[in-house]
Amino acid sequence: MKRRNLKTKFIFVTGGVLSSLGKGLASAAIGALMESRGLTVTFQKLDPYINVDPGTMNPFQHGEVYVTDDGTETDLDLGHYERFTSARMGSKNNYTSGKIYYSVILKERRGEYLGGTVQVVPHVTDEIKNAILSVAGDADIAIIEIGGTVGDIEGLPFLEAIRQFRLDVGKENAIYIHLTLVPYIRTAGELKTKPTQHSVKELRAIGIQPDIILCRTDRFLPQNIKKKISLFCNVDEDAVITAKDVDCIYEVPLVFHREGLDNKIIELLNIWTREPQLKAWEELVYKIKHPQDEVTIGIVGKYANLKDSYKSLHEALMHGGIANNAKVNLKYIEAEDLEEGSTQELLHDVNGILVPGGFGSRGIQGKMMAIQYARENKIPFFGICLGMQLAVIEFTRHVVGIEGADSTEFNSNTTDPIIYLMKEWYDFRTGRVEKRDETTEKGGTMRLGAYPCKLQKGTLAYQAYKKDEIFERHRHRYEFNNAYREQLIRHGMTISGLSPDGELVEIVELKDHPWFLGCQFHPEFKSRPMEPHPLFREFIKAALNNKTS
Ligand code: GLN
Repeated sequence: MKRRNLKTKFIFVTGGVLSSLGKGLASAAIGALMESRGLTVTFQKLDPYINVDPGTMNPFQHGEVYVTDDGTETDLDLGHYERFTSARMGSKNNYTSGKIYYSVILKERRGEYLGGTVQVVPHVTDEIKNAILSVAGDADIAIIEIGGTVGDIEGLPFLEAIRQFRLDVGKENAIYIHLTLVPYIRTAGELKTKPTQHSVKELRAIGIQPDIILCRTDRFLPQNIKKKISLFCNVDEDAVITAKDVDCIYEVPLVFHREGLDNKIIELLNIWTREPQLKAWEELVYKIKHPQDEVTIGIVGKYANLKDSYKSLHEALMHGGIANNAKVNLKYIEAEDLEEGSTQELLHDVNGILVPGGFGSRGIQGKMMAIQYARENKIPFFGICLGMQLAVIEFTRHVVGIEGADSTEFNSNTTDPIIYLMKEWYDFRTGRVEKRDETTEKGGTMRLGAYPCKLQKGTLAYQAYKKDEIFERHRHRYEFNNAYREQLIRHGMTISGLSPDGELVEIVELKDHPWFLGCQFHPEFKSRPMEPHPLFREFIKAALNNKTS
């Protein structure tokens, strides 16, 4: 790769000491600061694992699968990037080692390396560098986050590639930011810099000298500690930044700014910008910290004890709270714990019930009981994807009276497949007619990405969006079976959102209920702290009303 005249400057974010220090959030917050200075930003997450994409990975291990408008299944950090900035993510913004190697191997098979020996350096590293370049576009700043922790075997090709990258584009066009941990050891009464020193040593051993060190700690670092880190790690003293724990993630950009991070970045990258405009962030944080009311939402799910599996959902509910000046308490309820007799006990103290998306049959019974409880007791209910499908099944069984109604996902022999694999449908995103049946492979057959949906006036959905047409992101295989549509409508279900050709049922509601809505898409992926999603805003509002009524 030759040194090029690039418009974009690159910020590489690596992590050391241990995982879960919040590299994704730190990258997103850096993006927010750059945007607040009037720069345009984009992001890329480089994940060292061999899976080609995270679509088939277990949320237990990896957290939520985030879906972009273009239908890419990505790492959940892309959700942070979209929530903190106006950058929009897609297939170029997430690469795994698997995706890189896959493309190198395909090229080798096609003979593109002309019989040469294909090696990690330069072939894999070139592939990585090209992936990094491909994301830049017109952005002023591209923030490239390297997954994993420095020292992992898997991460080496990525680190080698970003080392070369700076050599290719020049010092003023690329900087390295390293996130480490500075623990406070109570028995010694001291902050310890040794883990940071070791981690930076590791990074320098592969040829990367960090320009800025972000130190995750529980308190602000005193100057003598910064001095020590500066000396031992060979960085400027004002490049040692405290990344203090915060109560609310939206405070991170403000903390970083107070520590001088954005100033240091633009100094190192030699760019001139206006002072950052952070008023909106300050107001947002003030609002979050001074709620006027509070509400409790019960989330009945399968991964209830692993909050990362519902990352975007969690955030979207918080955003709904912000829109209503209310604090939202989340009560995660394991669906399998709900059984005959325990519904009342587990759900009596919640003001609203939400059943999120999911796959497979485990926990279905419990979720359905929660839905029935919400419907009969007039508790605001929000069903997302699988949650909507189960709401339809529950209604068909208990209100329409078709006891055998089911989804073919859990019961392939059901007499009444109210949720099923649609044999043929027009795909508005690709413009093709899609076909599928039980034999279509796992992974590639989902309806993925942003699809248009027409809203019917006079419904809860229309009241929320106040628009005739919306675009929302999908990730599912099964659909509402139109053979039952008229019957359900006759019994009091409203179909308030449909695909433009009227074939795919996207939103259902109940009339005789304060707020009961299920949607086939995942609205949580498009909610932002500054622009709370209309459905979450209205759901929280209904839950607040339920409290007082
Ligand atoms: N398992 C259901 C389907 O594939 C729902 C998926 C989801 O909730 N994301 O249609």
